Amino acid sequence: MFVVVGAGIAGLAASLALAEFGEVHVLERRAPDAANAGAGIQISPNAVKALARISAAAAVTAVAHTPDALVVRAAGRRGAITTLPYGSAMLTRYGAPYLTASRAALHGALLAAALKRGVKVHYDRNVRQVRRYDDHCAVDGVDMEARLVIAADGVNSAIRHAVVGDAPRSTGWIAWRGLGDTSGAATELVMAPGHHLVRYALTDADANCVLVAPEKSRGPGGIARTHTGPLIADVGRWAPWPIAVRPRHVFAAGRVGFIGDAAHAMVPFMAQGAAMALEDAAVLAHAVAAHGPTPDALTAYADARAPRTRRIAAMSAEQGQIYHMPFPLNLARDQTMKTLGPRMLHRRTDPVYRWTAP
Ligand SMILES: Cc1cc2nc3c(=O)[nH]c(=O)nc-3n(C[C@H](O)[C@H](O)[C@H](O)COP(=O)(O)OP(=O)(O)OC[C@H]3O[C@@H](n4cnc5c(N)ncnc54)[C@H](O)[C@@H]3O)c2cc1C
Repeated sequence: MFVVVGAGIAGLAASLALAEFGEVHVLERRAPDAANAGAGIQISPNAVKALARISAAAAVTAVAHTPDALVVRAAGRRGAITTLPYGSAMLTRYGAPYLTASRAALHGALLAAALKRGVKVHYDRNVRQVRRYDDHCAVDGVDMEARLVIAADGVNSAIRHAVVGDAPRSTGWIAWRGLGDTSGAATELVMAPGHHLVRYALTDADANCVLVAPEKSRGPGGIARTHTGPLIADVGRWAPWPIAVRPRHVFAAGRVGFIGDAAHAMVPFMAQGAAMALEDAAVLAHAVAAHGPTPDALTAYADARAPRTRRIAAMSAEQGQIYHMPFPLNLARDQTMKTLGPRMLHRRTDPVYRWTAP
């Protein structure tokens, strides 16, 4: 039997990965109908390939939107710097589409797939402790002996605190999330000194707006209206989401595995946090298939994942520096992006999106 702690994207993906090998119980501290944090999510081609490995790609694609392009803009500059074709261009280049969806829709699709596969999800279970023995683990407050426990309890993971003893780190950034009531076919990115804005469709009608800015800034009421005018004119309410990270990536401790933000929360500037969780799940399935439900499986999983997530976290941090460049470096950046054009810019993301499941 497997126990997964947390029914977020990582936990449900892990449950799908493990359902191939035995009974899976997911323990979630929230109530069944509690809202998902964050309105929308971009699901890059590597994430779609990971979803395919755990047999959930079709279910997710059915509830997602496919943007036809990424329009890159700089605050205060007329017209786009460049437009990268998405849509069929992504499918051709990477073998999977680039999707956007509401988090509720992604979560719902994963949950439905897990329940269909016989996974048992238990709500209102706040798990703070795991006892580890040679041949099994016992989870705090639940009468279950698990061969493996997978901690998918997010960036503030209680299991990580109990087993590893370290804590997440605040980045000093806040993501402000808002809903627009119209959506275009393209995803829009606006870069500005010290902050940036992304807007993308959730459905044919709704759009998700995310403004990332320093905690100490004036937030969307000030900076966003100055720099991004029409792109946020239809957003009524903004909700703050402080960004914390786990600079040390930890995947395994004996029979306890870590997945998603509990393992490697990273800054969201490449929109890869959940994508990494889905890749984790695909690799976990491969490791358990090769080694059974053993600590060796988690060691193999850790060895396969650590170099990848460290690299993507570093690229993501670097992407933030590019987005937020101050004047006059931003002028050189804009000119370089214009000169490189879509083909060369796609090359930068090749190492991220070309990933395929083992
Ligand atoms: C602004 C922003 C934008 C982002 N955009 C993207 C994007 O476009 N694409 C992308 O791939 N990634 C994106 N990410 C990253 C992505 O949101 C996260 O990496 C992802 O949601 C992590 O999922 P998770 O399941 O690991 O954690 P969480 O979503 O935090 O889920 C953890 C679950 O565990 C439960 N839980 C917590 N503690 C306990 C406990 N003690 N007992 C039981 N249950 C517990 C929680 O209730 C929750 O359901 C973004 C992040 C931010 C901040």
